[in-house]
This record gives sequence, structure tokens and C-alpha cells, in this order.
Amino acid sequence: MVSQPEPAKEPAVNSSLQLMIMLLIICIVLAILGLNAWSMLASYQRDIRETEENATNLALSLSRQAEDTFLQVDITLRDLAERIENSSDDPASLVPLQEIMKTKNENLPQVLGIFFYGNTGKWLATSSGEANPTGDNSDRAYFRYHQTHDTVEMHIDNVVKSRSTGQFIIPVSRRINNADGSFRGVLLATVAVDYFKQYYGYFSLSQNDVLSLLIADGHVLYGRPYMDRVMGKDMSVSPLFKRYLADSTFGTATFISALDGIERIYGYARLKRYPLVVAAGYDKADRIKQWRNDSIGHAIGSLMLIMIICALGYVIIRQVREGMVTQYELVKVRNQLMQLNSNLEMMAMIDGLTGLSNRRFFDLSLDEHLRQAFMHKRPLALILLDVDYFKNYNDRYGHVAGDICLQNVGDILRHLPGRKNDVVARYGGEEFAIILPDTDIHTALTVAENIVHLVRQRRIPHESSQLPSGVVTISAGVFAAIPTTADEDKRHMIAHADKALYLAKSSGRDCAKISQI
Ligand code: GH3
Ligand code: MG
Ligand code: MG
Repeated sequence: MVSQPEPAKEPAVNSSLQLMIMLLIICIVLAILGLNAWSMLASYQRDIRETEENATNLALSLSRQAEDTFLQVDITLRDLAERIENSSDDPASLVPLQEIMKTKNENLPQVLGIFFYGNTGKWLATSSGEANPTGDNSDRAYFRYHQTHDTVEMHIDNVVKSRSTGQFIIPVSRRINNADGSFRGVLLATVAVDYFKQYYGYFSLSQNDVLSLLIADGHVLYGRPYMDRVMGKDMSVSPLFKRYLADSTFGTATFISALDGIERIYGYARLKRYPLVVAAGYDKADRIKQWRNDSIGHAIGSLMLIMIICALGYVIIRQVREGMVTQYELVKVRNQLMQLNSNLEMMAMIDGLTGLSNRRFFDLSLDEHLRQAFMHKRPLALILLDVDYFKNYNDRYGHVAGDICLQNVGDILRHLPGRKNDVVARYGGEEFAIILPDTDIHTALTVAENIVHLVRQRRIPHESSQLPSGVVTISAGVFAAIPTTADEDKRHMIAHADKALYLAKSSGRDCAKISQI
């Protein structure tokens, strides 16, 4: 039996393989994006942390420099105060003092001048040696401070503009006492703001970065970039003083400057000896810009990588799809060939005129059924049929009508009631044969008689028949047996059936006869 080939299935566009490749590509792309985002975030945090560390280190370094600067002034003022306290205010004893003041001033580049004022604010001695008999500094804040404070420690006051030079100066002063501890006057050193301006200028900073030196109460002594409006300004409301310096002496803080509205990352440090604070602030937006510029390079690289992966994925998916289409086409062609082959096989087994099985198929089937019957020890029957006086029919009605007559007989045989497993074949010419599996001789005879009856009943006119009925009739020879050998019994069966057919013919035709062994 020829089995029917499976129809080729159209390859689905979203086949599981393509879906898996697509999922793989999506996973790779997501992994690249995730890693990139993670690395960008990590580099952002690292840049911010580094900026904070740099700002803190710079503030600590500047605080050290400020400490040294004011310590030198402190030692000088301490020494001079001692000398003053050991001498009187009369001009004669002030002359050598002025010389010492001059020498000391020359050794301190940060100090513009050293002054000694009496308890009324009157100028008594200066490092420059210039006398100013009418000068009165009693209105200065540092003077009033010492007037009202007993401490003899060095005092750093808010920045002021010098009356003599117009420069910004930081007044650094000490109270001078009389022997009884009463107020005798003030010793002042003017520290040049320009000294810090020059030193702070050495550092390479971007446009909006700032460096500031402040008094611990929040007043600005110096700020880079140098702006007059910032000098002396009270910044005590800044988060630096309100929050951060309240908790620690140095550290880092990020906040928006009240002065210019720019957010900065600050490092701050309070001096150990003096009530001063140094702050270094880096423009946060500028640092983010630098980070963004670095990240854009990475992002472009990753984007190109993603594009390459997507392009490769597209090529792979296309190739897979093309492979599947080719496979589909191959299966289709194979099926068509198998179908063709099956048709050819069928054609080789079927009789063209009647549509019944042909002689070849009959021979093969008889072999197979004999084998089965031999194996199962079951009876097998064979009926040979032959149309009566058919030569006469052809002669009377013509060959074409003869063919139609054979088709009609074939139609009757094809539709025999209740004989589904029988093999009905055209044996040759106007002869037919039926193989009846698992059928004994009596049943086979009944079937044959029924066929003879059905053909007669069809009442196909046959005026040249020598039988009185005047219709087409058929004769049948029947044989049945349980095969003893598969091969030898084939010829044996056909010979017996043929003998029975001869008997039917010689018995007057239009009947069925059996052949007994
Ligand atoms: P009998 O009753 O003894 O069988 O007589 P008969 O004439 O049928 O037997 P015979 O063997 O003498 O003649 C058979 C005829 O069948 C001869 C032939 O022309 C005819 N025949 C054989 N094959 C075909 C066919 O395919 N078509 C047609 N139209 N006639 C055929
Ligand atoms: Mg014949
Ligand atoms: Mg005949």
C-alpha cells in the first residue's frame, strides 16, 4: 500500500528559532545598555567623589597656608607687644621700636605695615616711620574690640579698605596693656588681601570655581574670583556655617551659593589656631559637563556595538528564514514527487477502461492473499467471470458499444453488496476475476450466482446472444481452498477456477459453477 505524503507546512515567520535569536539579541542589547548605564552612574559617582576629595584637600592645604601666614604675624605682634610693654610711650623710646617694627615688616611679605596706637586711637609708632600726629583710629572696629575686650590674644578683624593706600587689608591686632592691666593701646599689622590673591591665583580653576578665606563668624576676607562686592560680606547664613561647620572642622558639602545661585561641591576647613575658615568650591555643572563629555564617547561606542549586533542578528534571522523557506520548498517538491509517484503507481495498477484493478494488481494481490491464507490456515476463494457471446456483441453493436458494455459490467462488480475486502479485477478482454479472502466455496458460489443474476438483471440488450433472454449475460467459475503452499497454489487455483468457468460455459452459460478438487 502506498502511503499518502504529509503536506508541507508553511514555515511560520515567528518560528521558535527566530524568536530565540531575537530574544538573545534583545538580552544582549539590554545587557549592554544596563552595563553602560551602570558604568556611567559609577563614573558619575566616582567623579563627584573625586571632586569632593579634591575640594577637601585643597581647603586643608589652603588652611595650612593661612595658618602659617597668620602665625608669622602672631609671633611678630607678640614679640613687639612685649617690647612695647617694657617701654614707655615717650617719643624717644618709640624711635628704636619703629626700627624694629620696620625690620620685622620687611621680613613679612604678607604684612603691609605695623602700627601702634595709643588708648585714644592716636598714632604712636609705625613700621614705615611716618608720623601722623593728627591720625585717629579709635573708630576702627578692631580698636573698639580691644577697648572692650581684656584678652591679649591676636584678633583678626573684618577686611577694610586702607585709608592710606586704598587697598583691601585684613587688620590683625593685639591689645597692649599697662602694667596694671588697663588698656594702653592697640598694636596692628595690616595683612594684604593681595597676598592671598596672588597665592590663590596659582591654582588652576575653571570659571565658576571659588576659593574663599573667611572669618569664623562668616565675614569674607578674600574670595577668588576677586570681587569688591564680596569683600567683607557676611556669609553666616550660608549652609556652610549654619550646618556643616557646626558639626565638623573640615569636610565636604554641596549646596547652591546664595551669592550667585551656582551649585558647587565645597571642601571646607577651619584653622586650628585662629577663628578662620577656608572653602574651595568646584562648579558642579562644570564637573557634570566633563563627565557627560566622557560618557558621550562611551555611549556612542555602545550604540555602535548595539547596531552591529542588531545587523548581525538581522543577517542570521534572514539566513534562518531563507533556510526554512528552502527546506519548505524541498519538502513541497518531495511531496509533489511522491504524489506523482503514487499516481503513477495507481495508474500502473488500474484498468483504464473499467476503473477496476488490472491484471498486474490481481497477480500481486493473489500472491499476498495466498500467503495470508496459508499463514492463518483460512480458506481463499477465486471467481473467474467471462461475458457470454461477446464477440457477437462487438459484431452487432460495434467495438465502442462493446467497451461501454464492459464498463457497465465493471460497475456492477465494483458495487457488489457486502464485499468490501474482495479484490475485483479485469483479468483480460471480457474476462473478470474476484479474490475473496476468508471465504469458503459455498459462500463464493453464492456471490458468483448473485453476480450472474445482477448482470442479467441489468438488462443490457444483446440481440446477437444465442441465449433466448436477448440480454448480456455472464458465466462464472468458482474455486476455494485452504492453501497448502503459497506459490504452487496460485496456478492451481486459477486452473481450477478456469475449469469451473469452462463447465459453466458448457452448461449453457449465464450460470456459476464450482470446481471440486
Ligand atoms: P463465449 O461465450 O464462449 O465466451 O464467446 P465469446 O464470443 O464471448 O468469446 P470469444 O473469446 O470468442 O470472444 C471474445 C471477444 O471479446 C473477442 C474480442 O473481440 C472481444 N474483446 C476482447 N477485449 C475487448 C475489449 O476490450 N473491447 C471490446 N469491445 N471487445 C473486446
Ligand atoms: Mg473469453
Ligand atoms: Mg466470452
